[in-house]
Amino acid sequence: MAQAQLQIDLAALQANWRALDARSSAQVQTAATVKANGYGLGAGHVAHALARAGARRFFVAIAEEGVAIRSAIGPDLPIHVYGGHMEGDARLISEARLSPMLNSAEQLARHFEALPGHPFGIQLDTGMNRLGMEPAEWQAVAEIALSQGPDLVMSHLACSDEPDHPMNPRQLAVFHELTDGIGVPRSLAATGGVLLGPDYHFEMTRPGIGLYGGAPFTDAQPVVRLSLPVIQIRDVAEGETVGYGNTFTAPQDMRLATVSAGYADGIQRVLSNQATLWAGDTPCPLVGRVSMDLLTIDVSNVDGTPDALDLLGPHQGVDDIAELTGSIGYEVLTDLGYRYARDYRPGA
Ligand SMILES: *Cc1c(COP(=O)(O)O)cnc(C)c1O
Repeated sequence: MAQAQLQIDLAALQANWRALDARSSAQVQTAATVKANGYGLGAGHVAHALARAGARRFFVAIAEEGVAIRSAIGPDLPIHVYGGHMEGDARLISEARLSPMLNSAEQLARHFEALPGHPFGIQLDTGMNRLGMEPAEWQAVAEIALSQGPDLVMSHLACSDEPDHPMNPRQLAVFHELTDGIGVPRSLAATGGVLLGPDYHFEMTRPGIGLYGGAPFTDAQPVVRLSLPVIQIRDVAEGETVGYGNTFTAPQDMRLATVSAGYADGIQRVLSNQATLWAGDTPCPLVGRVSMDLLTIDVSNVDGTPDALDLLGPHQGVDDIAELTGSIGYEVLTDLGYRYARDYRPGA
């Protein structure tokens, strides 16, 4: 079989949720952000495992994502939508019982008109300038909004992965100014905010990336392992070239393995002649260009003939690959291709 295997360790995912939950006091609820198909790992499997671990509240980006989570976790646990209530969303929000985080006076009006009495939350902008009501807009509508009983008021930190960044206390102060005394549960912290400490936790945290094993939660257990099957092994002589564009010339006689995955699977072409794959504990350099479906790997140092080589695993995590591509672990995860066989290792 030439289909690459993406192993997803649901027990590690659950352990990461518990570890993040343990970073805040028992009064603080730890929710889970499962947007973008559970950071590429499969929304239904991920949400179900997190609910079993103890997560009692979920966050997605758009209403459509909430529908998949609803069928995975059953009818009772709240699901919030960061994007709020968009035109045309009323039916989904109502049927899947989603709570949109209303981002503007316009969304507020739309929600109260289309779905009076239906749960909602409020998202405030405390300086990131991406989503949420600005302070002046909030002041204008706060009284009406609060009279309708929001289930949550939240904001988002722009620099929480940098603990010493002055933006963190600045946003914290604005959030206090806008929300102190409102008597509604509040949330400011994603993964980075959880790690900033109790001042940032309020009544609820909503980590994402740390659950999936990514920075800034460097104590996370790795959740993914990506094994690429070897299709063919060949010997090349010193001076022979490898792959498209002849970008690699063998400096000596060597053994190459051709493995089944490429840029169509999210393995970025910028990794050409850069990445390392692993045969157990033996590092094997990627040589030549990444092609659409194939990689060529120097396995000269491997004893015997490997059946598969790991791109992600115990020796190399999503943040290691991100460092090579000039990106972040979030993007490596959400780039993981549709062509992989997703193999879920059961959790509790
Ligand atoms: C994605 C997202 C989160 C989760 O962030 P992580 O850094 O993955 O923990 C939380 N809140 C908002 C508004 C988000 O967009």
